[in-house]
Amino acid sequence: MTRRWLFADQLGPHFLDDPAQPVLLIESKAVFRRRVFHRQKAHLVLSALRHRAAELGDQAVFVRADTYGEVVRAQADDLSVCHPTSRGARELVQRLGVELLPPRGFVTAPQDFTTWANGRRGLRMEDFYRDARQRHGVLMDGAEPAGGRWNLDAENRLPPPRGVTRLDVPDPPEIHEDDIDAAVREDLDRWERDDGIKFLGHDGPRLFPATRDEALARLRHFVEHRLPLFGPYEDAMLAGDPFLAHSLLSAAFNLGLLDPLEAVELTEAAYRAGDVELPGAEGFIRQLIGWRDFVWHLYWYFEPGYRRSNELHATRPVPKWFAELDADAVEARCLSDVLAGVRDRGWVHHIPRLMVLGNYAMQRGWRPGAMSDWFHRAFVDGYEWVMTANVVGMSQYADAGRMSTKPYASGGAYINRMSDYCGGCRYDPKVRVGDDACPYTAGYWAFLERNEEHLRANHRMRQPMQGLHRLTDLDALVEQETARGSRAP
Ligand code: SF4
Repeated sequence: MTRRWLFADQLGPHFLDDPAQPVLLIESKAVFRRRVFHRQKAHLVLSALRHRAAELGDQAVFVRADTYGEVVRAQADDLSVCHPTSRGARELVQRLGVELLPPRGFVTAPQDFTTWANGRRGLRMEDFYRDARQRHGVLMDGAEPAGGRWNLDAENRLPPPRGVTRLDVPDPPEIHEDDIDAAVREDLDRWERDDGIKFLGHDGPRLFPATRDEALARLRHFVEHRLPLFGPYEDAMLAGDPFLAHSLLSAAFNLGLLDPLEAVELTEAAYRAGDVELPGAEGFIRQLIGWRDFVWHLYWYFEPGYRRSNELHATRPVPKWFAELDADAVEARCLSDVLAGVRDRGWVHHIPRLMVLGNYAMQRGWRPGAMSDWFHRAFVDGYEWVMTANVVGMSQYADAGRMSTKPYASGGAYINRMSDYCGGCRYDPKVRVGDDACPYTAGYWAFLERNEEHLRANHRMRQPMQGLHRLTDLDALVEQETARGSRAP
């Protein structure tokens, strides 16, 4: 049996052919010299890698080096590696002559995706998800979807309950840092001090699993205690409760600590046992077998230049206050709170990402490729494969609709409906022009006006475009938003 080289996002047992297989683990410092990552992300990745090395003991050779190449070159003939998760890493593996195996850590295989995708005009997650559920017999009653419907999103879009500041769900199992975390923290401090390596955001206690045991404990607790409320409130936002009933497992899946199929099976078992309602179970399974697998396959299926797509000609740079998470510079309550969440935790859930951060960037015409890179570096669960389609395609609509039917642009009304932000904000979500004008509401109309030529033919944008033409204050609004530009709102 060859020695298995495990990258730092291939840490679960499913990346080995046999539990006793010899392993090579490499901690590369050069990765952190090349890009500015969130400090807590750097901590999590190093902690997970070192915990895995400690778990494997003599079974693993664990090397701290500057680059992968200097370690692998001498022993490439005796190594195999599961398909890595970036084009850069795959090229490196090929250049070094290491045996390359098919990918693991996803529910669906590349050839299943290719068979499904070839010849289709638009690649829609919903269609792929249905195909994957049938192929793997997930939430199926014979040939029909469990409960008679594929998609229970309509039940999963509730705003937060009125008058509450926190959802009534038990907290996830706490993470207890250990000596390995202490050593990681010391190393990162030293790298910053002595080697000039820079990080984003604030350091803080590790909030996300770095071991399989921690990840499994969180998964089981989530399915038992938090999943029932996850479904209905998965899109809601509360200023005082950033986690709501979310699983907080995306980083664990993306480190390879959990196999998504085991999470899908546990979730379906809870539904079949009557412990979880179908909308919650279906919503969580859709995120795993739908979105996560879908964006993974798109990363490889689209051409390498996809990440530079920029159909809306959004050419403004991402401003410093945003890129460096200066939440205190922002008066808009929603954006300030979400930026502070990224600064303090390296994580906010999918709706603040899409409808607060991404929506603002798209409205202002910031470069999609730069936004994708920022999401990759600023989030504990961010990787190039995750962010390319999610940000370039879905969030910034920079691919001319190859994966989304319309831009995820909205004004303050959406944020007002789905959160408790607007009540305490100095702006008013209903106001378009003037001192109180909500930057999201005004930004939304300015975005439509600026991109009318691109969006006119999209039948899903017909109604918003009709609304745009009915505005009597459009000239003043455009002048106001042009003056606002990329300043912190
Ligand atoms: Fe955000 Fe506008 Fe609401 Fe303020 S009023 S919280 S800027 S959506």
